[in-house]
Amino acid sequence: MRPPIVISTWNHGLPANRKALEVLAAPTSSALDAVEAGARVVELDCPDMTVGLGSRPDRDGFVTLDAAVMTGDGRAGCVAFVQGVEHPVSLARLVMERTPHVLLVGDGAQQFARECGIEVAPPKLTPQADKEWHAWLKEKNYQPKVNIENHDTISILALDAHGVMAAASTTSGLAYKMHGRVGDSPIIGAGIFVDAPVGGAICTGLGETVLRTLGAHLAVEAMRAGATPQEACELAIARIIEKNPNPQNYQVGMLALDFKGRTGAYAVQKGFTYALQAELKPAASKF
Ligand code: ASP
Repeated sequence: MRPPIVISTWNHGLPANRKALEVLAAPTSSALDAVEAGARVVELDCPDMTVGLGSRPDRDGFVTLDAAVMTGDGRAGCVAFVQGVEHPVSLARLVMERTPHVLLVGDGAQQFARECGIEVAPPKLTPQADKEWHAWLKEKNYQPKVNIENHDTISILALDAHGVMAAASTTSGLAYKMHGRVGDSPIIGAGIFVDAPVGGAICTGLGETVLRTLGAHLAVEAMRAGATPQEACELAIARIIEKNPNPQNYQVGMLALDFKGRTGAYAVQKGFTYALQAELKPAASKF
């Protein structure tokens, strides 16, 4: 038995990690319970308005959410473009545990939520999100901004005392995205990937850049080939920059954890923070 390890994205990773570590302190809990519980904290309370039902909407005024879970044995569940569900990360877990599928989207994900007894709320923006959306509508200028305000997924990876690893991600994606847009976060191999006995990787940032390169899978395969988690994050970020022009216009942050408990963190640009255990850290970056 070794002490559990939890690593997650951005400042909101800190409350998520605290919750995950609290869960992992119970002898019967699992890495999956821990990452789900950690992600749920941010789904309920995300001051950045980038996770959960309190998020900024898409350009048509709808909050659409993406989430995923994965465990080291290759099990995975994801939901994308789902509306009205308070805890999409838990719905993703139910997709993994109760269906023969990996990914449910939109109305089908909502229907599954109802079948599981989960309440689906009608579309509604918080007063702040509504105000900001109406201000945005005046110009309708869609321009994702580096590091700030219009995206910031909580992605979280945990290795429990029994040597089991799990990851979760949950996000509203990019603010003012096109209706129906899905990013990297609920896509296995892109925003999230775990493979025992190698390790796991999770991403945040401009999802299109990560989708084009399957960033998390790339980092895990680099670890399989012998890279440390830090080297794996740097290699994956280098590939993202190589395949996606104008890196000054986007941010991607990558975190990795291997089964030895070693961690890595790297980003395209300065400003990516992450939580390791109960400590907040700035990640090194390419630029
Ligand atoms: N990766 C997310 C997306 O593109 C957003 C983020 O992590 O900041 O949907």
